[in-house]
Amino acid sequence: MFAVRPCARVDPVQYRPMTRPPRRAPLGARAVDGGAARGAAADPLLRVEDVRKAFGGITAVDGATFGVRRGTITGLIGPNGAGKTTLFNLITGFVAPDGGRVVFRGEDITGRRPHQVFRTGLCRTFQIPREFKQLSVLENLMVVPSDQLGERLWTPWLRPRAVRAEESAIRTRALEVLDFLKLGHVAQDDAASLSGGQKKLLELARVLMGDLDMLLLDEPGAGVNPSLMNELASAIERLVAERAVTVLLIEHDMDLVMSICDPIVVMSQGRTLAEGSPDEVRRDPRVLEAYLGARAGKSGA
Ligand code: ATP
Repeated sequence: MFAVRPCARVDPVQYRPMTRPPRRAPLGARAVDGGAARGAAADPLLRVEDVRKAFGGITAVDGATFGVRRGTITGLIGPNGAGKTTLFNLITGFVAPDGGRVVFRGEDITGRRPHQVFRTGLCRTFQIPREFKQLSVLENLMVVPSDQLGERLWTPWLRPRAVRAEESAIRTRALEVLDFLKLGHVAQDDAASLSGGQKKLLELARVLMGDLDMLLLDEPGAGVNPSLMNELASAIERLVAERAVTVLLIEHDMDLVMSICDPIVVMSQGRTLAEGSPDEVRRDPRVLEAYLGARAGKSGA
């Protein structure tokens, strides 16, 4: 059984304080429908409103609507093909929606490019880690901050001390992030030599180099062994408790979801089917039906 350790027991991390003060999103500019309105009702940091996307004849997302409250770890679950990853792609600008709106901190970010979304403080990880294999773990983190002084043509000659100071600050932060995720001992190893689970943590570490308000995690638990899974769950909880990050998490590992997520949003066939606490979702017959239906469809195919 998946065990989650209380947040208070973990080591404090000396993170750089957030440069942006927490912002309050205006409430309920537009109503969202049905039961999915619950998460949008109280201070939604992110609102997904009637978002749609079709690929040729396949409707991947079909009017998905829900809100993510600030300070929560919200789970996004559903059977294979329910549209979860496509929805992440739509929220973070990797795919343009056919319709609907994505509102982050009260600002309409629908259709923005991924780097523009990233700059708003809304960051994501991918199902398949995208590390630079030829770089060390530490270097993988140090290349994340964009527009570094040392990357400019003349600055290393004209302002060498400023370049060194910036590099040193980035290195310090990268080491803090690695410590936070208990990856400090592999800082100098090649990223290619990490286990599958460690690569997942590295993916998370790279995102933490940014200045983020909200994190979208796409199956962080896939391929992660049980002991690393504990580290991962603990790290996600500490991010929320210590850094005021809000998390939306796609995951098939129900132990992980039921332990750390509340509320849980359930998607089926491109739609948001239900939303509630782990207990409510567990007891909801529509959820069971969606999973069994998807399985029956697969075995009958
Ligand atoms: P899983 O849990 O298996 O990752 P999911 O809930 O994330 O599934 P998606 O990957 O979003 O589901 O896929 C939703 C539907 O859209 C599926 O039928 C999928 O085949 C289809 N789809 C997703 N991306 C594309 C694409 N680029 N081109 C065509 N069809 C796509």
